[in-house]
Amino acid sequence: MAVNLDPDLLSILVCPKCRSEFRVDNEANELICTNATCALAYPVRDDIPVLLIDEARETRQENSQA
Ligand SMILES: [Zn+2]
Repeated sequence: MAVNLDPDLLSILVCPKCRSEFRVDNEANELICTNATCALAYPVRDDIPVLLIDEARETRQENSQA
């Protein structure tokens, strides 16, 4: 199921945490923050992005130099 968002809407949406733009992940049905140090993924429900940090999941890879 693809994310069906108006491109004009998508273009004005920014991550509420870091104010970066999103890219669309159609497979996961999410909007992914393009900021690599943030990289939160926000769910899209019924074609409506849920831009709540509490609802987002982290996609950032752990790069700790253990
Ligand atoms: Zn972000």
